[in-house]
Amino acid sequence: MDTILIVNAGSSSLKFEVFSVANSLVRLVKGQMEGIGTTPHLTIKSSDGEQLANENYPLETVPDMLAAMRLVGEWLRQRPQGQLIAVGHRVVHGGPNHARPARITDDLLRELERYTPLAPLHQPSNLAPIRVLLERQPHLAQIACFDTAFHRSHDPMTDHYAIPARYFDEGVRRYGFHGLSYEYVAGKLAEIAPGVGRGRVIVAHLGSGASMCALYQGLSIESTLGFTALDGLPMGTRCGQIDPGVLLYLLQQHGMTAPQLQDLLYKESGLKGLSGISNDVRALLANDDAGSRLALDHFVHRIGLNAGMLAAALGGLDAFVFTAGVGENSAVMRARISKKLGWLGVSLDPVRNEAGDLLVSNEDSKVAVYVVPTDEELMIARHTLALIAA
Ligand code: ADP
Repeated sequence: MDTILIVNAGSSSLKFEVFSVANSLVRLVKGQMEGIGTTPHLTIKSSDGEQLANENYPLETVPDMLAAMRLVGEWLRQRPQGQLIAVGHRVVHGGPNHARPARITDDLLRELERYTPLAPLHQPSNLAPIRVLLERQPHLAQIACFDTAFHRSHDPMTDHYAIPARYFDEGVRRYGFHGLSYEYVAGKLAEIAPGVGRGRVIVAHLGSGASMCALYQGLSIESTLGFTALDGLPMGTRCGQIDPGVLLYLLQQHGMTAPQLQDLLYKESGLKGLSGISNDVRALLANDDAGSRLALDHFVHRIGLNAGMLAAALGGLDAFVFTAGVGENSAVMRARISKKLGWLGVSLDPVRNEAGDLLVSNEDSKVAVYVVPTDEELMIARHTLALIAA
């Protein structure tokens, strides 16, 4: 049996899945090493939910990504799932030119390393496993799937910032992210509601990272994320859209250094910064203090404003789709956001919403509202398979 391995390497976690590729893609195992470099913890489950591993490791055993890879690699070798024919990687930044996944070569790896300054927290972690595998198993096919690729269908005009054009040429442009999630959802929508899928759709990917994407005829025409994964909606710990003047103020009046500013914007802001309590929507919903209320009210407010912007880009709205952690699991947040979108013609069916049905809008809603669980790993697996077959 041939298998492919999907790797999603973050700054402190290594998520992986193994798919068999017999007739169709079938998920065999799914695992993650979390707390790399702090409190390493490995969990692995089979496709039917059976726990295959659940172990804590001393920090010295898993101090970094390479150690995590070695451990996961050993686990997989000891329990062979089949013949590994390729590895598909999630890579956050594919730069301005990659509109599709690509097979890893030395040249491509060098090119992707150049985008590290554009995604300093993610790109180095994404590339580390690729580099090691390329050295140790140069004949193993590796495919890079970019979070930016799906947004390359934008009209280039929309991807400019209004600063001198030479910066655009240098790469300072709006790239957009969460592309693998949007591509998966667009595909799913085309299956379940082909008519709607060809129309004007906003997809809200609301997880610990959060963004929204405007789809027309299944392609991305606008998104709330831009040059980095900081723009648009406030997120778990990231600030979202901010007046650049605030950054100048912090630099000039507080004497902040660039690394301090980076930490503030990526790790201390968003829901965590606003609430002073947590980046987790569940915790904020469970608390009834002023900070938690402010954080959630602000989150819903900004989603509303950004939905208006994307609806303007689309010239109207036929469907709104909720996905990712908050969008898939929280009926309360879906209801609050939908209420905000009432003026656009969104009207929820409370029973369907509570049940988390696929279609959660009522018969009178001018805009169809869906809940579509995303599956970025399956999207990577599909791309990987398609590229090695080609
Ligand atoms: P990631 O970006 O890490 O992949 P997810 O899409 O898994 O994130 O989303 C994680 C977030 O989803 C959590 O931080 C939490 O705020 C939120 N979440 C998960 N389940 C629920 C729930 N039942 N109610 C509200 N929020 C939830």
